[in-house]
Amino acid sequence: MQTTSTTLIVIGGGPGGYIAAIRAAQLGIATILIEGDQLGGTCLNIGCIPSKALIHASEEFEKAKHYSHGSSIGIQVSTPSINIVQTISWKDGIVKRLTTGVGALLKKNGAQVVKGWAQILDGKTVAVMQDGKEVQRITCQHLLIASGSTPVELPFMPFGSGSGKVISSTEALSPTEIPKKLVVVGGGYIGLELGIAYRKLGAEVSVVESLDRILPAYDEDLTKVVKTALKQLGVEVHLGLTVQGLNADENAVRLKNAAGEESELACDKVLVAVGRRPRTEGFGLESLMLDMNGRAIKIDDQCRTSMRDVWAIGDVAGEPMLAHRAMAQGEMVAEIIAGKRRHFTPASIPAVCFTDPELVVVGKSPQEAQAAGIDCITAMFPFAANGRSMTLESSEGFVRVVARKDNHLIVGWQAVGKGVSELSAAFGLSLEMGATLEDVAGTIHSHPTLGEAVQEAALRALGHALHI
Ligand code: FAD
Ligand code: NAD
Repeated sequence: MQTTSTTLIVIGGGPGGYIAAIRAAQLGIATILIEGDQLGGTCLNIGCIPSKALIHASEEFEKAKHYSHGSSIGIQVSTPSINIVQTISWKDGIVKRLTTGVGALLKKNGAQVVKGWAQILDGKTVAVMQDGKEVQRITCQHLLIASGSTPVELPFMPFGSGSGKVISSTEALSPTEIPKKLVVVGGGYIGLELGIAYRKLGAEVSVVESLDRILPAYDEDLTKVVKTALKQLGVEVHLGLTVQGLNADENAVRLKNAAGEESELACDKVLVAVGRRPRTEGFGLESLMLDMNGRAIKIDDQCRTSMRDVWAIGDVAGEPMLAHRAMAQGEMVAEIIAGKRRHFTPASIPAVCFTDPELVVVGKSPQEAQAAGIDCITAMFPFAANGRSMTLESSEGFVRVVARKDNHLIVGWQAVGKGVSELSAAFGLSLEMGATLEDVAGTIHSHPTLGEAVQEAALRALGHALHI
């Protein structure tokens, strides 16, 4: 059996791992990335990219259906139909192009990719397994764990149960047909992004959330706009209910409310989206006896674990489980190993939910600023007063800014509305650059764009908005 020696081993080729490997190789560090499945990880194969492809297809189909009922802008189409098998094949084509691209980038930069499952033997030695057999042993100076996360299963309703009715996001992203009735368990990111997409693709969708509100990670001023949109779209939302399992005929989900009353919701498929958990088991990680933070590997602000020269990034290191956070950590760890002085202390990690309308939060909400003892000014500008929104037939939602009262330093942005995900770059930049309300208000924003609502929110916070 072959034994190889390198400077850095990266376990996992998701956005955290592949970015770390590319950057390390760019910096001249001998790097081997071990991936047991597909390069690109959850994000490219079964997460961010395929979900946004399905959301896009569902939006286009919905638009065509909307026009078939007649439209105010004069477009008429006959009743549209969708070939979901072709849609999925289009989505798979995008995934293939991107994963092939990741392989090419790793190669171009000089990082070596080893196909197989990494089994950690100690902090400096990893066995590569194929079909349960060790095919290679690699020793290293630095070990970077980027093994990602897996969907949380409900023990009484595991994935695949109910004769395959109970599915995770992975199966939901590759349907062969659209179910008539879809029950979604969990009103968080995945439940609502995919629940809305399935509704637009023609399913009757019911979302069951155990808390008393949807999207608990976002503040209620934002989520109530989504709640209204869900109602208009015909997505049923059941709050404050716990799922008990499938009924005996496996054609309905049993529910219980806080008073202990039971009810049932008919289903053809059940998408369970109740969170993801760090992937820490089954590859010898336990042998390192690392300090843990709940189920996640505990890291410091340089992504160091409790063992010297063992690093962890991305979902395996806990919340927020977002691809851009994993990538930023991966780049940083590579630079630290190369001798640069870096710390993971971003001004903010933007969060975007690709519901319809979309949500963006960057930095502190008014409530978070208040809780942090910051005396703040808050102002919002509605898209109803933005010309571009009107031309896009979407005037729901708003942009809100939160800034310190004393020096007008911006500490947070929130937005809800069509297409606001693209505003997250401007929001993030303004926080990272330490912009004040005057900086944003004094920047010429192109007309007509949604971005003008950003400038107007800053102007409004200063007391002199121009279009409201
Ligand atoms: P992963 O992407 O999970 O990659 C880990 C890799 O490690 C996998 O390829 C796995 O095969 C490999 N691996 C694990 N163990 C081993 C081993 N022992 N040996 C070899 N290889 C191993 N985030 C966003 O920011 N925006 C979004 O829009 C978004 N949408 C999402 C939609 C869905 C449906 C899902 C499920 C997730 C979404 N996410 C989104 C979250 C995002 O996918 C994750 O935060 C991101 O992929 C984490 O990157 P990672 O590198 O930490 O891990
Ligand atoms: P989530 O944490 O976003 O939402 C889970 C929801 O399920 C919560 O609202 C929770 O209260 C609810 N819940 C938990 N147990 C329940 C139960 N037994 N019955 C009913 N409801 C229950 O998790 P998710 O939607 O599975 O997504 C996982 C992670 O993937 C996200 O936290 C996020 O980090 C990432 N993700 C990000 C994006 C994005 O950035 N746009 C999109 C999809 C996924």
